[in-house]
Amino acid sequence: MIRFENVTKTYPRSTRPALDDVSLEVERGQFVFVVGPSGSGKSTMLRLVIREEPTTSGSVLVAGHDLGLLAPRKVPRLRRQIGTVFQDFRLLPNKTVGQNVAFALQVLGKPNRVIKHVVPETLELVGLEGKGRRMPHELSGGEQQRVAIARAVVNKPAILLADEPTGNLDPVTSLDIVRLLASINANGTTVLMATHDNVIVDEFRRRVIELADGKVMRDEAQGSYVPRP
Ligand code: ADP
Ligand code: ADP
Repeated sequence: MIRFENVTKTYPRSTRPALDDVSLEVERGQFVFVVGPSGSGKSTMLRLVIREEPTTSGSVLVAGHDLGLLAPRKVPRLRRQIGTVFQDFRLLPNKTVGQNVAFALQVLGKPNRVIKHVVPETLELVGLEGKGRRMPHELSGGEQQRVAIARAVVNKPAILLADEPTGNLDPVTSLDIVRLLASINANGTTVLMATHDNVIVDEFRRRVIELADGKVMRDEAQGSYVPRP
């Protein structure tokens, strides 16, 4: 589903690479935790997958397509297959919960009759049934992150990228959010989650890719936050 082939990314005006000769493959349906200290390259890895940034050398392939060869006009089609969730939720503050989710479909030109049934269905999927008319600021942090997840998956993307999705949440709410991501994964969506949360990683025991200074230090199936002794 996602393949990195000798990927190096050096940002303009930067002296050291944010990612340094990274090669890896994520299979369809996998759930992967990307761990490592701040600045180790986790966000950069996710940004390359949605082609928010080009690589400096090497190739990123998504669903068989080499993103370096993808015409700019085809980038929106790529991004439609990928949902994204962030630490700070990034909801539209002046739209209702339902409108936030509906907006993701409106920009794709989906007809209103489709939006009308898909939005409530998706809110139910994330545990927010009946909350479509609330404003984001009326919701708890965990609920706001559920809205963001609903928006990310409403178009049934093949891949869900989550960058520190529990970074602003308490431990109990964090577990609920990752349970939700795991259930979305169980329905076939490939999930890549960058995180600092050792409790979560140790609870869920999924594949762990550990980065340090832009290099893959460890890649373990059913891994833990720190290497096994
Ligand atoms: P992480 O997500 O693990 O905190 P990042 O991918 O954000 O790591 O950052 C990796 C490295 O790239 C860091 O040294 C960071 O300062 C640098 N970096 C990230 N984004 C940019 C940018 N837009 N311009 C220049 N340097 C950047
Ligand atoms: P409620 O229980 O208040 O009816 P639901 O949880 O069933 O809310 O979700 C419906 C929500 O979906 C509505 O609040 C509305 O904001 C949103 N919605 C549905 N279709 C559209 C649309 N075409 N444009 C904007 N928002 C929509």
